[in-house]
Amino acid sequence: MRRKLAAGNWKMNGGSAELTEIRHLTGVLPDSPPDILICPPATLIDRMRSQIGDAPVALGGQDCHNKKSGAHTGDISAAMLRDAGASYVILGHSERRADHGETDAIVKAKTEAAWAEGLTAIVCVGETETQRDAGQALEVVGAQLADSIPADATVENLVVAYEPVWAIGTGRTPSLEEIAQVHDFMRGALAARFGADAAGGVRLLYGGSVKPGNATEIFAVSNVDGALVGGASLKASDFGAIIAAL
Ligand code: PEP
Repeated sequence: MRRKLAAGNWKMNGGSAELTEIRHLTGVLPDSPPDILICPPATLIDRMRSQIGDAPVALGGQDCHNKKSGAHTGDISAAMLRDAGASYVILGHSERRADHGETDAIVKAKTEAAWAEGLTAIVCVGETETQRDAGQALEVVGAQLADSIPADATVENLVVAYEPVWAIGTGRTPSLEEIAQVHDFMRGALAARFGADAAGGVRLLYGGSVKPGNATEIFAVSNVDGALVGGASLKASDFGAIIAAL
């Protein structure tokens, strides 16, 4: 049985003032919550850890370097994330792929670095609008899965997030049928590579304009085990409602 996961990606948003959202969130959690993860800017991980206290909320980074340390100004390593209190890291987000030229090979190397530090990697895949319009969504997602995920994936160290690029921050989402098609395809692709048992346990998240108003129907789609939420994770009331829908 796969545990559901609600993951919030704060992106480059939030400072000390926004830590109050964490206090609000821990106050509205359901009695038996799914797994909950927040990936704030790295500057907030440590202070967020203190705010969370005993509440069942994990923390993650939004990226890591593939090296453990060294002359890489501005970067952060998986070891540093772990040291700050993170247990997950988002890798290969489309904004990293677009803004920083991250290729599948780079995402794969970062995933290996994350695993070496015991972090669970949330590897993001997803097609652009042009690729979807050209009928290439499954081909693109299949290639990203094959080339971004290292060989030694397990149920514990890997989560995959399907995030169509055109749905991120736009208020647009694929149809439920399209979400089901991609998630079923991803489950099959993982099974072909890692075997049915491992693939059957890896959580698959949908990401792209998930809101309280559409969460319930998206979470009912086959093979959707939760969501990677951007904008709506910044407000405790919205993220809390999404968590409650899981
Ligand atoms: C994201 O950036 O991972 C994301 C899904 O963003 P949003 O929910 O704002 O579309």
